[in-house]
Amino acid sequence: MSAVIYADNAATTALDGDAFEAMKPFLTSEYGNASQPYSFSRSAKKALKGARETVALCINASPEEIFFTSGGTESDNWAIKGSCVHGDVRATMTSRIEHHAILNACAAIERFGFPVAYLPVDGKGILSPDVLDSSLKNAKLVSVMMANNEIGTLEPVADLARVAHDHGALFHTDAVQAVGHVPVDVKSLSVDMLSASGHKFNAPKGVGFLFVKKGTPLLPFSDGGAQEFGLRAGTENVASIVGMAVALQKNCARMESAKRRLLNMEREFLSVLTSAKVDYLRNGASDHIPGNINVSFRGANGEMLLHRLDLKGICVSTGSACDSVNDKLSHVIQEISVPKDYARGTIRISLAATNDEGDAVKIAQALVEILSRKN
Ligand code: PLP
Repeated sequence: MSAVIYADNAATTALDGDAFEAMKPFLTSEYGNASQPYSFSRSAKKALKGARETVALCINASPEEIFFTSGGTESDNWAIKGSCVHGDVRATMTSRIEHHAILNACAAIERFGFPVAYLPVDGKGILSPDVLDSSLKNAKLVSVMMANNEIGTLEPVADLARVAHDHGALFHTDAVQAVGHVPVDVKSLSVDMLSASGHKFNAPKGVGFLFVKKGTPLLPFSDGGAQEFGLRAGTENVASIVGMAVALQKNCARMESAKRRLLNMEREFLSVLTSAKVDYLRNGASDHIPGNINVSFRGANGEMLLHRLDLKGICVSTGSACDSVNDKLSHVIQEISVPKDYARGTIRISLAATNDEGDAVKIAQALVEILSRKN
């Protein structure tokens, strides 16, 4: 069997080889608990400090503003739930196309009596700062993703944060799909909190971080020991944190060249479809995560396309990893009003630096062949 073409990098990515090498000592010989004072734990403590500095540098934050977590879901839940202080009934505002880590955390705080407003986006998936401005009344927190996980659209986060601040609200962004792929500078974005997840940028699964700007009020995620500046108790996952820092640094260093390659792959992919006169719509904004191609094929069925591509050794997705287990139209595709005769035929191809133009062409040719079959 020929090698698999993996084109679902928005779901997860391959572990970077250097990140793996950097992790190994902390999974074997250097197993000391980073909180212990004796010299055997010194290398774990030093590695943790170094990783925090590296991560902070990559997003222009201070090391004390980086809180290591178990990934994007935890970071998002912490930002949303940790902003709910007993007795403060001011609203949380978010967009209708957030990942379920945000939407379900919002649903949870609503059950506890904290109000949430869900704002509409336009046909490209963009939440307009004007829409936020006219809806913002007495809100304590606005949370809008930096990049959408299905259609790749980049939101105008700096403008949205400014509007939130003008109204006295804090601003959080779920940057899980953005960190390591597009430049992220917490100071120029002016965000108060930002979520990231290691496995989306070639780090291991189960590790991430929440950036919390100095002075931002936030309840602890967990109570226990004094780890993570007393706000997220629990023995640190040193090996994964070290791997995450290495992977992030590498991704940030090659971001520009990766972007050029990925945009080329996108062009190659689309030109095969266009030459074969395939009837499709590309979803999302022109300002998007490089390598994310969300396409809807007229009269097709996304699930069927996914399975037929799988038989050819090609991995894509029908949307978010979470939604592909439910056989219903994703909330994002519904919200951006993809026409009915195209919507069900939607798939997401997410290419990465591990792919090349040959992969892009092969995926497109496979789709042309599948779509031209009548059964
Ligand atoms: N937020 C977004 C935008 C995502 O794409 C994902 C994962 O797909 C998450 C949050 C959840 O991250 P994790 O898998 O690290 O829990």
